[in-house]
Amino acid sequence: MKTSEDLRELLERIDHRGYPAYKDIRGRYQFRGYVLSVDHVQGDPFASPSKVSVEVPGKISGFPQSLYETPGRRIGLQDELLRQFGRQAERAAFKAKGSGKSGLISVSRPGQEILERSACEIRPDKGDILLRMEVGLPANGRTINSREAIKIFFDLIPACVQKSLYYRSLDGGRLEKIAELADDQAYIRRMLSEKGLCAFVADGAVLPRESGISQKPMRGAVAFKAPESLAVTMNLPYGGNIRGMGIPKGVTLIVGGGYHGKSTLLEALERGVYQHIMGDGREYVITDDTAVKIRAEDGRSIQGVDISMFINGLPNGKDTKHFETEDASGSTSQAANVIEAMEAGSRVFLIDEDTSATNFMIRDELMQSVVSRESEPITPYIDRLRELYENYGISSIIVAGSSGSYFHKADHIIQMRQYIPEEITDFAKAKAAEYPLKMDKAPACKAPSFDRKPKGVKERPGDRTKIKVLGKDSIQLNRENIDLRYVEQLVDSEQLMALGYLLNYAQKHFMDGQRSMTQIVDELTNILSKNGLGKICESSYLPSGLAMPRKQEILACFNRYRKLNV
Ligand code: ADP
Ligand code: MG
Repeated sequence: MKTSEDLRELLERIDHRGYPAYKDIRGRYQFRGYVLSVDHVQGDPFASPSKVSVEVPGKISGFPQSLYETPGRRIGLQDELLRQFGRQAERAAFKAKGSGKSGLISVSRPGQEILERSACEIRPDKGDILLRMEVGLPANGRTINSREAIKIFFDLIPACVQKSLYYRSLDGGRLEKIAELADDQAYIRRMLSEKGLCAFVADGAVLPRESGISQKPMRGAVAFKAPESLAVTMNLPYGGNIRGMGIPKGVTLIVGGGYHGKSTLLEALERGVYQHIMGDGREYVITDDTAVKIRAEDGRSIQGVDISMFINGLPNGKDTKHFETEDASGSTSQAANVIEAMEAGSRVFLIDEDTSATNFMIRDELMQSVVSRESEPITPYIDRLRELYENYGISSIIVAGSSGSYFHKADHIIQMRQYIPEEITDFAKAKAAEYPLKMDKAPACKAPSFDRKPKGVKERPGDRTKIKVLGKDSIQLNRENIDLRYVEQLVDSEQLMALGYLLNYAQKHFMDGQRSMTQIVDELTNILSKNGLGKICESSYLPSGLAMPRKQEILACFNRYRKLNV
């Protein structure tokens, strides 16, 4: 391997030359204590920055193995090291000067959730750390400025590495706490199924966020407190006894006056499929990690989905066992979202009345007597949710502010009163008995079939794959836009980037008309666990900005791909 001195010489040699001469520095260099690798060199100072990575061997970084010995601990430590490095990089950025992006040093910026990311990987056996960053190689105009580049590679990056990737530079007590939190969270997650719960929300949790654009905790919020009847105590491996609200499997209704915190609770549950960082307020809000938010999504594309459980006998005679549309209505989109989530193996549906299609949720008595069952294609969710639980083991947690009919169907009813939950099941059931539900019987239905076998779009030889991401809103794969705005459990644009690569890879290798959607995702998960994201990206270097989505979001993305050919 070349040495750092080789890199210095190379840089000195190309000083004052045209920017493309930077391409010569691609390669790996042994520095003191780590290997620096220039994986990709940008075309000019204004283009997207160069990809650089550092690898610190476990022996040198010196993290005790206990800090990364389980997947949960390892992902927690990776996340923390990335944040630490990011803090240092922010200080070092643009200390080297020049045109365009000259001097940039940056890494991924994780939010409140702890995700597995390509930006920082720790090898579970040896503790070797791999950290991927982006660097703007310095230039004046378009002329290489080696003196500033040397500053980056020989002063700034080494200082970042030293201050953030060596155990001795960090607060060991804090790292210990992060590892313990990871264990405690994993423990609660395991206990959910043991105790027959869909979710757990600890006393003292802070659910509301600072604002619509910030996921930081709200200051001065009312702390969560479980009602006695739903209280569950868990004995955490490190955190001692923790009390909180256990939401049992089955059908749970969250009711309450407007503005009393219903949607805030549901949103916390949506995000509870992920782990949260220390200080977030939702560290101990843990939801079954297959839970899916189900909402209406007018305008989405639906490709060959069997929505006959909810929709039958459309006036245009369209087949609802193999339903296709480029522009779904509120109810058909929500029906497809349910069926697709079933296919993705979800055990809990999270539904907010605010984001649902009314005619999908409910049909009141008066409407039933005016518009007869025969001329109504929709069997509303209220007529199917017991069946979903009893036949398929899928629980529903529903926020309902206005339709009392659901009282009849619920196992548990929680009222939010000034942000504090109370269980009102008995009271509400007694009231409901005074208003019997006169619903005509829902037609029987068969289990939806999941037999779609998509074929991918064939590429022409020489086509280069283009993947672009627009925040958390959408992916563009070769100019085809995939709208993911309403896939609400995507929490980071890096997950969308990974989805772009996954879809591209699946389309090329697995969408051959032979495999079902779930088989395709299983193949992908297989590759990911054996070969990692690198294999999926099919490039000589791994992009720094990828974060792992769940199986549910992978399928959600594929299902919204308008070129899905089934
Ligand atoms: P609902 O869905 O019942 O109408 P929301 O969940 O939208 O109510 O909450 C209404 C407002 O109250 C939001 O602005 C939210 O941030 C705030 N809020 C929610 N929970 C709390 C809490 N525990 N403490 C303080 N404010 C809260
Ligand atoms: Mg609401």
